[in-house]
Amino acid sequence: MRRKLVAGNWKMHGSLADNDALLTAVLAGMGEVGCDVAVCVPHPYLAQAQARLAGSTVAWGAQNMSQHAKGAYTGEVSAAMLNDFGCRYVIVGHSERRALYGESDQVVAEKYAAAQAAGLAPILCVGETLNEREECITEQVVGRQLDAVIEKCGVASLAKAVIAYEPVWAIGTGVTATPDQAQAVHAFIRGKIRALDAAVADNLVIQYGGSVKGSNAAELFAQPDIDGGLIGGASLVAEDFLAICKAG
Ligand code: PEP
Repeated sequence: MRRKLVAGNWKMHGSLADNDALLTAVLAGMGEVGCDVAVCVPHPYLAQAQARLAGSTVAWGAQNMSQHAKGAYTGEVSAAMLNDFGCRYVIVGHSERRALYGESDQVVAEKYAAAQAAGLAPILCVGETLNEREECITEQVVGRQLDAVIEKCGVASLAKAVIAYEPVWAIGTGVTATPDQAQAVHAFIRGKIRALDAAVADNLVIQYGGSVKGSNAAELFAQPDIDGGLIGGASLVAEDFLAICKAG
């Protein structure tokens, strides 16, 4: 039986004071949560997350990292640096990184490989744009994004990773995929992995992300292939995030 994972993606939001209040409220509500929970915070707040969350049931991680180990990469952050702050997870290939910072499938695969080499669990984001959905090439796009990682790292690497299916048209838009739409893509992803390795597929946590709220989380998470969520906007409000975690 797979455990569900609800992970917050704070994106570029927060301040020391706001984070402190948010984490205090989240920790206070964790007693009623039965799934795994994590928050992926901006790099400058990793020390704060570590200080506040160490010893708790909430894990923490980052939202991006360099594919390089060290060197002349001004402004970049390596996997080893994330390890210094006790991260368990790092998001790779978020659609905002792909669209706004030009991260190709190849670069995402390199980041995924570098994260795993450092012992971090990558949360690999995949998903189609609205145009791609309308062209009925969702499976082609998601399949290509997965293939880049499988070709580089092998299917066995997914035993130590999480996949987040995030339709781009649903991220931050308030338009959530219906449970049936999401389940169909999750089943495609798991089926694709199962064709290569059944055990890896059965244990793989596949999150859904895209305008998840307290009001729609339970129905989404009840789908057989949806194992929790990657949560953007709603992870910034403790009450909303906890409502989603309780549905996990
Ligand atoms: C995200 O940032 O990955 C995300 C899913 O955002 P939101 O929940 O706000 O749609």
